[in-house]
Amino acid sequence: MRTDGFKAHLATEPESGIITALKLTAANAPDGPVGVELMAAEPDGLEVLADSAYGSGAVRAGLKRRHHRLVIKPLPSRPVIPGGFVRDDFVVDHDQGVVTCPAGHTAKLSSACVARFAPHCGPCPMRSRCTKARARSFSVSAHDAELVEARAAWSEDELRAVYRQHRPMAERSISWLVAKGKRRLRYRGVERNVAWAHRRVAALNLRRLVVLGLTRTDGNWVLAGPIGVLGDVPRRARHLLARGQIQRDRIFPLNSGSSVRAHPRGPTSTLRRLLPGGEEPCSTAP
Ligand code: SF4
Repeated sequence: MRTDGFKAHLATEPESGIITALKLTAANAPDGPVGVELMAAEPDGLEVLADSAYGSGAVRAGLKRRHHRLVIKPLPSRPVIPGGFVRDDFVVDHDQGVVTCPAGHTAKLSSACVARFAPHCGPCPMRSRCTKARARSFSVSAHDAELVEARAAWSEDELRAVYRQHRPMAERSISWLVAKGKRRLRYRGVERNVAWAHRRVAALNLRRLVVLGLTRTDGNWVLAGPIGVLGDVPRRARHLLARGQIQRDRIFPLNSGSSVRAHPRGPTSTLRRLLPGGEEPCSTAP
């Protein structure tokens, strides 16, 4: 997201839409390393969803070191020649240090991780799909195995289904941040804009928590609770569902079925994560 020379990077909790981290960088800063930074304060072993801007091998390796399960759209494998062979048409044996090309020829990887197929390419009938040069040189990147594994995993339906399920809420959090002309920053200089962005995120989170049913019970902040009163609740529930502000499996009928209640499991766990030790979220009660 570009904003007058700055780019805002967000981490959000995908079920509630709560923004858990924010960083403002220059607009031309790469997304990937910032994404890893945004996850630094999170516990290990989460399911991390992101688009292909965060799909580089280095980012994947950084997140995997924290034992996260990655649901990140992989960077596409681009052919050297339009319509020609891509990376995955070559087989790399990292243990043996050799590469096998689509025609079945094998070349050793050099110390610079380049395999040269020069002796084989001249008479090769597949050359027009492989290279414009006299012979093909094939480079293996530092995180090549990581990326091949990611592309293979992405071809399975399971990961893409999880990504499709949660992406709309992440997009919604971004649209809340930039709504009402807030795509344009108000101040000059990094510090004041960073402070403004964090204040806005805090206000959005508080509004979101109130929508999710934030209330004070027995001295504790909780999210479980009725999301409306008898009579107007079905309409209210439909409204929240339509706006994606609550999920259908978080709603269940009470008593006669004319009232609904937010299921405490998901949002409450989010709140616990945000409020370690039961601290109050801010000095102003909603
Ligand atoms: S052009 Fe060379 S590298 Fe490409 S398929 Fe033919 S032999 Fe293999």
